[in-house]
This record gives sequence, C-alpha cells and structure tokens, in this order.
Amino acid sequence: MPDFTLTEEQRQIRELAREFARDVIAPAAVHHDRTGEFPREICRKAWELGIMNTHIPETYGGAGLGVLEGCLIAEEVAWGCTGIGTAMEANTLAEAPVIVAGSEEQKKTWLAPMVKEFRFAAYCVTEPDAGSDVAGIKTLARRVGDDYELNGAKMWITNGSVADWYFVLTYTDPSQKHRGMSAFIVDRSSPGIEVGKKEWNMGQHASDTRALSFSQVKVPAANRLGREGDGFRIAMNAFDHTRPIVSAAAVGLARSAMDHAVRYAQERRSFGVPIAAHQAVSFMIAEMAMNIEAARLLVWQSATTIDRGERNTRYAAMAKAFAADMAMKTALDAVQVFGGYGFSTEYPVEKLMRDAKVFQIYEGTSQIQRLIIAKEIFERR
Ligand SMILES: Cc1cc2nc3c(=O)[nH]c(=O)nc-3n(C[C@H](O)[C@H](O)[C@H](O)COP(=O)(O)OP(=O)(O)OC[C@H]3O[C@@H](n4cnc5c(N)ncnc54)[C@H](O)[C@@H]3O)c2cc1C
Repeated sequence: MPDFTLTEEQRQIRELAREFARDVIAPAAVHHDRTGEFPREICRKAWELGIMNTHIPETYGGAGLGVLEGCLIAEEVAWGCTGIGTAMEANTLAEAPVIVAGSEEQKKTWLAPMVKEFRFAAYCVTEPDAGSDVAGIKTLARRVGDDYELNGAKMWITNGSVADWYFVLTYTDPSQKHRGMSAFIVDRSSPGIEVGKKEWNMGQHASDTRALSFSQVKVPAANRLGREGDGFRIAMNAFDHTRPIVSAAAVGLARSAMDHAVRYAQERRSFGVPIAAHQAVSFMIAEMAMNIEAARLLVWQSATTIDRGERNTRYAAMAKAFAADMAMKTALDAVQVFGGYGFSTEYPVEKLMRDAKVFQIYEGTSQIQRLIIAKEIFERR
C-alpha cells in the first residue's frame, strides 16, 4: 500500500483550493446553475491562482504537479460546484494526450501558451453515434500533401465553444479499426469548424457542452500526435491521468452532499427529536461517510500509482466507477434526508443529485469501467 501522508506542499495546495472553493466557487454555484452562464471569470481567477493546468511540465512553464495534486485540487473545487469544476478540468483532459504523446515542438506550441495566457482546450472523441464504442467513430482525416483534411462530427464536447484548440480523434484508415485511428490538435480558428448550441443538460449547467462539426478542415501534418494509427492508444492513455481527477471530483460532490445532510439532520426535528437521532437517518449518513473515505482511498491509490510511473488502468477504472456510483448514491440519500425540502430547487441538494449523474457517464460510463476492470483481471493476470 502506498503511503498516503501528504507533504507540506500538498497540504498547502489543498488548502489553497479549499479556500477558493469556499470563497469564490460555492457562492456563485447557484447563479451558474440557474443561468447556465459559463464561469469564465471564476476560471480566470483559478488560472491566476495556479490551480488550472497543473500537470503541464515545468519545461513548458507549468507547475509540473502530479496526478495526486490534481486530485486534491479537484476534490476541493468540486465541493464548491462540479459544473464549475468541469469547466476548469476539461483542459486537463485535452492536454493529457499532448503530455503523453506530443513531440517537443507540439508541447511548446500547445502546452506552453496554456500557462502564459488564460485559455481553454477541449477533448473531442465522442460522436453522435459512438461514445462507449470508440471504434464506431466516423470522423475521417485524409492526407492531402502536407496537411490532412478532417470531416466529421463530435458530440458532448466539454468547453466546445470556449476552447482555443481541440484534441480530435479520427480515422485515417477505417479498415484497420482501432489501429487505423489518428489523433490531431486542431486550432479553433481553422475554417470549416462549426460549434453547436449549448446543450441544456440535467446538471452541471455551468459547464459548456457542445456538438462540433468539421467540414474540410485543413490540419497541418505537424499537428498529428504520434504516428498514423496511434490515435486510439493516445486517446485512451489520457484517461489513466484524468480518471483519478474526475473521481476526486465525485468525492468532492459527495462531501458537499454529506455536509448538507449532517447540518440538516441536526436542525430538522420530528417526533420530538432532531432527525439525526433516528437511526434510519444517522445510518444513511454513516454510509455516506464510509463510502466517501473508501472512494478517496481508491482515488489516491490510482493517482499515486501513476505518479510513481506505474500502470494504473485498473485502479483508475475502479476509482471512477466506485466514486461516481458513490457520489450518485450519496446525493440521492442527501435528498432523502431533506425530505420534501430535498425535492425543492430552493435547497441545495437537488442540484447535487442532478450534478452527480454525469459522473456515471462521462470519461467512460460506470459499465465501461467495469468492463475495463474485468479485462484487467482476466487478460492481464
Ligand atoms: C455532460 C457531458 C460531457 C461530456 N464531455 C465529453 C468531452 O469533453 N469529450 C468527449 O469526447 N466526450 C464527452 N462526453 C461523452 C461521454 O464520454 C459519453 O456520453 C460516454 O462515453 C457514453 O457514450 P454514449 O453517450 O454514446 O453512450 P453509449 O455508448 O451509447 O451507451 C449507452 C448505454 O449503454 C451502455 N453500454 C454501451 N456499451 C456497453 C458495453 N459494451 N457493455 C455494457 N454496457 C454498455 C453504457 O454504459 C450506457 O449505459 C460527455 C458527455 C456528457 C453527458
């Protein structure tokens, strides 16, 4: 088992993010949930504070922090609001493939500016007809001289309208299935890109989700990450870095739900006692506490494994499935603790319940995480 004692620096990073979540994010959460306004200025403050893009290596001007530090920040930020957290964290997902597979030149071109200027990036894999089944994508990149021409459509792209560049997974040779995929960085200003309307989702309204279409978009061959055929591996490897961070956000949301439930259970009275005195209520909260601690341990396990340079695919999938399912259950139970008020939009827990759901869907559904875990057990023993 790894040693989970945090260093002084890690504790400071967590404290910084905690204060930011308490003072800046949480007070704005309801506004962004109700209006769907993109939290640009909050993200700008987070960027100025240095809690965005934290995994960009020092060579390119970044903080070069590990995945564990990313998790510490993500948990705190998510405690404040996961919609705002997703807007902040989408950069991490788009940057991960460049960190994992980019050339020196590509890292200088695409990562360094993310630290120098306040910018966004987006990760574009999912399509209208293909999510879990990545091999079902249809976007094509055809070589034309020194360029490629991209045609296709992407769906559910976080930060789709605000990104300065996109990581895009395509086919260069559909006959080769997974081995025929190639990944590109596409400049947002390239002609032929159309951004769809903001999707009004069930939750995380602060986050910007869009459909994108690419019509004869010219992309220099220099923007291809790795070789032709490396795309699928690059896109999937990125998840080993980012799933621990998304899972940490699920833990943060659950913590918030539990905080509300504990407070309410002490204030609300029935049958002459605070509802916390009813075992049925206090046990729901005890379950929340157990599951939050267990999820955090899995998250930190998945993070420290990759930070040590070891393969963490199974732990990342376990953390993602466990933390996502746990966050959903914790938020549901928090609504239950609030009774009728839990169902009201005037109280905080219904937002948490709506926001929690997407953790079981994005970055691989809870079913797909179980497929990965089973594969790791049966094929890598
Ligand atoms: C708010 C939001 C933001 C997102 N952001 C991004 C983003 O930034 N970039 C990006 O590329 N994508 C993004 N996504 C897409 C997300 O990753 C996909 O929605 C997800 O991978 C599921 O794909 P799907 O929606 O096509 O569902 P499907 O793959 O059609 O799945 C439908 C159901 O079938 C189940 N299922 C499918 N195949 C199997 C199987 N083999 N075994 C068991 N069960 C299975 C699934 O678990 C699910 O329950 C986002 C999605 C949302 C909702």
